Amino acid sequence: MRLEGKVAIVTGAGQGIGAATARKFARDGAIVVVCDLNRDAVSEMVDACREAGGVAEGFSIDVSNRHAVDDMVASVLDTYRRIDILVNNAGITRDARLQKMTLQQFDDVIDVNLRGVFHTTQAVVDTMIEQGAGVILNASSVVGIYGNYGQTNYAAAKFGVIGFTKTWSRELGPKGIRVNAIAPGFIDTPILSTVPDEVIARMREQVPLRRLGKPEEIANIYAFLASDEASYINGAVIEASGGMTL
Ligand code: NAP
Repeated sequence: MRLEGKVAIVTGAGQGIGAATARKFARDGAIVVVCDLNRDAVSEMVDACREAGGVAEGFSIDVSNRHAVDDMVASVLDTYRRIDILVNNAGITRDARLQKMTLQQFDDVIDVNLRGVFHTTQAVVDTMIEQGAGVILNASSVVGIYGNYGQTNYAAAKFGVIGFTKTWSRELGPKGIRVNAIAPGFIDTPILSTVPDEVIARMREQVPLRRLGKPEEIANIYAFLASDEASYINGAVIEASGGMTL
């Protein structure tokens, strides 16, 4: 199994892409650390990972809370003594046009989608440097490449995540750590639950494959990037959008 024995932290693993990634990693032999805000979702996912044949442990934490992140990492190190993979997947939307966006909406998205990625990565990086090995995978978006109407806050965060990815791949590559990002298009997860049906239908039409992506299709890419099969991929932003940006 390609992630056999690897200790992998997945944030936002309670549902959607993060849950699919946790399950996939468990099937591929990883020891999965399930992190999410939602306590019930964490315990369900831990059970699901164990049922998939993996070892799993859960933490109900908010990635924008640095103390909580540090405590989670300390606990993982106490138990497993290493951290091989970090998937910075937790993310939220608080959409509004520029003129209507409140400071709260702006701050909420920056705190989780950008600052949260900084917190978790800074919390694990010394361990990965000591190991001389590690993989950091960041959730960007096609919105982090092209922008999107009504998503000033989200676009800023997702462009920022690409900035992190490029910067960290330069800083950490010489230390044996690979850093990459995925830029999904429209993926069928609860994050789209506030999007009206007619907008979803228009999204589908924009995609040459004429469908939304499945969370498992992104999880498969995370699993590949996390594995040694991707050993020469560093600083990349892999777009997975069914060709919607062509
Ligand atoms: P999702 O279904 O909404 O799942 C996100 C998960 O993150 C939820 O379980 C959520 O918990 C958790 N979360 C939110 N805030 C958190 C925090 N502060 N600390 C810890 N966990 C937190 O979203 P998704 O569609 O799977 O998206 C996953 C990632 O991919 C996000 O970064 C998103 O921006 C990115 N992405 C998604 C799409 C798409 O079309 N779906 C496209 C491009 C990029 P609660 O449910 O308790 O809030």
